[in-house]
Amino acid sequence: MMKKDIDQSDYEDEEGLEQSEKVQRFYDQLAAPGADRRDESPIIYMRGFNNWVKSVLIRTYLPPSATVLDLCCGKGGDLNKWKEGNIHYLVGADISETSIENCIGRYNSNKLMDRRTKKPAFEAEFIVADCCQVRLQDEYTNPARRFHVTSCQFSLHYAFESFEKATMMLRNACENLRPGGYFIGTTVDANELISRLRDRGTQDESGSWSISNDVYSVSLDKEFDPHDTEAPLPLFGCKYHFQLAGVVNVPEFLLHYPLLVEMLKEWDMIEVRHQNFYDFFSEHRHIPDDASLLYRMQAFDKRTGTMSAPEWEAIGLYLIFVFQKKGPQQ
Ligand code: SAM
Repeated sequence: MMKKDIDQSDYEDEEGLEQSEKVQRFYDQLAAPGADRRDESPIIYMRGFNNWVKSVLIRTYLPPSATVLDLCCGKGGDLNKWKEGNIHYLVGADISETSIENCIGRYNSNKLMDRRTKKPAFEAEFIVADCCQVRLQDEYTNPARRFHVTSCQFSLHYAFESFEKATMMLRNACENLRPGGYFIGTTVDANELISRLRDRGTQDESGSWSISNDVYSVSLDKEFDPHDTEAPLPLFGCKYHFQLAGVVNVPEFLLHYPLLVEMLKEWDMIEVRHQNFYDFFSEHRHIPDDASLLYRMQAFDKRTGTMSAPEWEAIGLYLIFVFQKKGPQQ
């Protein structure tokens, strides 16, 4: 198959588009055939590492035969992890229609088939929806469905554009969780991001603060100053621009972790843990099964046992979180 070259201008900000439309268009383009040039990526080990983090997180909190909600499931990059976890049912939702089409294609592919029954290893339904504006419960085929686990990987920060959007996203994550069920995910570590901007950030002519290395760059919108103690960064709508491996991402929003903890209390969610990826790695690298997975998932170069320094630096910008719904496990 011919691969489509991605022109940088494909990702340029389009004037007048709502944030949700920008996100949808951006991920539709990324999910288009040929857009994923994994072999040539300068962040090949970082991607492997991110996948390793998700795999370990999922297998640590997933009970057998689980019913799972994957918020912002994208192209279905985690479908195989759900298969390995022997889940029973999956609801996947994403704002990008092209991503969901890809996801359905992967779900029906040989990789997901149960060898004995020749059917997909678990049942699933996929929904195209803005999880920050649509109440997903109204979209499930069975509104009475209850989940053992909700997962939101590398996406929750998009919701912190406004109180209303974050509230809807968290409602979707938690309202149909069973007592004892987990809300797990990965997102940007705002504390780490702001401390890097304070310590090493530089200011451009427009006044915006940024940091970068060979694989990533982050710049805060020019109205925000990470050093200004008189005007602290806002809880919602603190916009920044993240560029990874040369791809200009759609704007993201700072997710202050203590705010997440507070907002989730409304849904009877208790914090179980949160860890920067470095700490997560330090803990799980000593667990033999998790350590062996590191190499199987190409998180490091097999020969040298390392990845590039810029990739490792970028990895420290993320954290994992785990919350649990109050009540006895069902
Ligand atoms: N969770 C997937 C993974 O880990 O491979 C995809 C992560 S990708 C970085 C972010 C995903 O969030 C994209 O698929 C994008 O379309 C989705 N997304 C962003 N904002 C969304 C929203 N408001 N509602 C639903 N999906 C959204």
